Amino acid sequence: MASNRTWQATGYELPKKQKTQGSNKDNSKSEVKLLVVDDEPRLCHSLKELLELQGYQCEIAIGGVAAIQALQHTQYDLILLDLNMPEVDGHKVMQFIKNRHLQSDVIIISGETSFEEASWALQQGAHDFLRKPYGNGELLHSVKRVLQKRQLKAENNRMQKWLADSERRYRFLVNNSPDIIYMLDEKGCFSFINNRISYLLGYSNDDLLGKHYAEVVHPHDLDKAHLTFDEHRIEPNTTSNIEFRIIKKGANRLSDNLLESQLVTVELNAIGVYENQDEAHNKQFIGTYGVIRDISERKKAEAIINHQLYHDVLTSLPNRILFRDRLDNAISQAKRNSKMLAVMYLDLDGFKIVNDSLGHMIGDELLQAVAQRLRLSLREGDTLARVGGDEFNLLLPEINRREDAAVIAHKIINNLKQSFEIDGNEVFIGLSIGIALYPNDGEEIDMLIKNADMAMYHIKGRGKNGYEFFSNNMLGRISRHNSLENGLHKALEENQFILMFQPQQAVDTGKIIGVESLIRWQHPEEGLISPIDFISLAEETGQITDIGEWVLRTACAEYSRWRNQGISGIKIAVNLSAAQLYRADFVPTVLDILAENQMPGRLLELEITENSLVQDIEHVVEKLRQLAEHGIRVAVDDFGTGYSSLCYLQSLPLNTLKIDGSFINTIKSSDDKHSIISAIVTMAKDMELSVIAEGVETETQLEYLRSIGCPQAQGYLLSYPLSADNTLKLLSKAQMH
Ligand code: C2E
Ligand code: CA
Ligand code: CA
Repeated sequence: MASNRTWQATGYELPKKQKTQGSNKDNSKSEVKLLVVDDEPRLCHSLKELLELQGYQCEIAIGGVAAIQALQHTQYDLILLDLNMPEVDGHKVMQFIKNRHLQSDVIIISGETSFEEASWALQQGAHDFLRKPYGNGELLHSVKRVLQKRQLKAENNRMQKWLADSERRYRFLVNNSPDIIYMLDEKGCFSFINNRISYLLGYSNDDLLGKHYAEVVHPHDLDKAHLTFDEHRIEPNTTSNIEFRIIKKGANRLSDNLLESQLVTVELNAIGVYENQDEAHNKQFIGTYGVIRDISERKKAEAIINHQLYHDVLTSLPNRILFRDRLDNAISQAKRNSKMLAVMYLDLDGFKIVNDSLGHMIGDELLQAVAQRLRLSLREGDTLARVGGDEFNLLLPEINRREDAAVIAHKIINNLKQSFEIDGNEVFIGLSIGIALYPNDGEEIDMLIKNADMAMYHIKGRGKNGYEFFSNNMLGRISRHNSLENGLHKALEENQFILMFQPQQAVDTGKIIGVESLIRWQHPEEGLISPIDFISLAEETGQITDIGEWVLRTACAEYSRWRNQGISGIKIAVNLSAAQLYRADFVPTVLDILAENQMPGRLLELEITENSLVQDIEHVVEKLRQLAEHGIRVAVDDFGTGYSSLCYLQSLPLNTLKIDGSFINTIKSSDDKHSIISAIVTMAKDMELSVIAEGVETETQLEYLRSIGCPQAQGYLLSYPLSADNTLKLLSKAQMH
């Protein structure tokens, strides 16, 4: 659009001109603003008209003063400036433009001008010089040329600025990238690296520029690094996400033991860089470009997750999954090397009692302590895993002989013999170990574990705390074990239990001084089952407390029947499982049963195994004290097989020691010096305890016991366990003599 503004020094405006019709202006021209400066108004107007016809926006200033006023208000692209003007001439206007750093271009128009003047104007920054009189064509051409040049310059400036901005943006992005961005030259030396490197690895850019990458890569990872950094390919097949370790600044890369803290694990990708990339034949490899990402945090997280996936939280031992994995590997290895390996199934004896009596917290601590101690017995390469509550699996990956496994099992059991000190409690725990060997007992994971488990069950059934190798004839017994477990549920309500009684006699007179009640299970299909085969099962399932109560009630009722028949002067002994002792209502139940049968407490002797006595001392002592208060006697059963010492037992309110049959069994001749047995007898007498030798089978043994002054005995030699009726007959007969 044409402008109608005229600048005059006097401040008055020239009359408005008619809008130029039909001008051939175009958009770019109409955006361009021109100022015509001359002291000759007529000339100004005619010039303006000419220019507006061409589509330019044009203003005029009459004289130098008006020109300066105009320049103070408006920015012009081009000024057509007359040099010779009164007062303020063209030179001064030029000076003004220069001093104010105005971005206007100038074409000088002048009449009588010297060459000096023209060159001065050009030096001052004028873009062209027209001498009056000039032709219109000449003028327009000059205007056009200057404006074109100006536009080009503006474009160029814009481009420069854009480039600078964009460069700044990229530099910002590159330097603030969370990753290291690098470029290597064709020899593998760093030619660019962003600032991130100093944050992650401590190097400054200068430390690395020109250096070969091998100087910062962990020596063990160099192969991987070569593969990656020497990448010649371009996308999309390039190497990506290769992991290796980079050495931080200050660490000696040649040292053999680089510390974790001196390394950063990174993931790297790389793309080949080419000159003339687009020309298939002519392109030339100039290096590699890529991104290095610090993944140490991710690695740590992965390690933790991995650990949790494959380890038991409580003990930090490997879990079942990891065990199976290691076993799988070990089997392959053993197969290749034609070697044996051993799988052990370990199960704590009496852990349930610890848990029930001392609480789960102590139970957990005990498991941790056991795990810790079990580890002591192992070699590097062995895998110990926790696979259930109190169950562990052990893998010995390479053994030469069966005995090697036995030695380890023996060592483990021995190590556990010493009590654990947990939260001020002295806790004893036994262990049953079943062992299966590759390849004899199985060639696959499941078979080996299953057979070790079976062997473990077998040892459990036979008195616990020991180890046993798997053998094929266990298979039948285990299936029996499973069917027994099912049948045990119904045995009580269907009255399948019966009691037998085994007399206990005075060694010197042969007089019967008591009977021990022994349970049997009259199984509808299996026939009579020994307690050895179902008591530990009942202890595991918890049914033992009901069964035990039944035994106590039945034994006392039977005994009361005998008393009604005139039997007197003997005691009745009843076996007790630890779990019964720990029940809160144990003592009241015993008292109720005694009351039901009008039986004085002193006629009842409860047999408790050594090991149940050493767990949770305070609790046990309190129960024993309550029993003693009512005259109820307590015998230590199987004495000598457990962990207690006579000294310890001295502090408990006890009445009788029952020396385990395994000791009596060692007596082969009556003049042997069996110092253990005689020592027990002597010390027991000092402690005013009564002593019974169990499992007496031969005259020799009885003779020996007599010779060392053991007061009482029980065993097949004297009598097998008898039915209630037969016991009554025996007692009646004895009473008569
Ligand atoms: P125990 O208390 O040590 O009982 C003695 C065991 O030795 C009995 O086996 C008995 O029959 C056996 N025995 C007796 N004299 C001889 C002998 O001269 N030689 C040999 N080799 N053995 C002899 P039984 O009746 O099979 O009982 C085994 C175990 O079962 C008992 O050992 C006891 O720990 C447990 N038990 C039996 N009845 C009960 C019960 O009512 N409750 C609980 N909790 N356990 C019981
Ligand atoms: Ca007993
Ligand atoms: Ca016994």
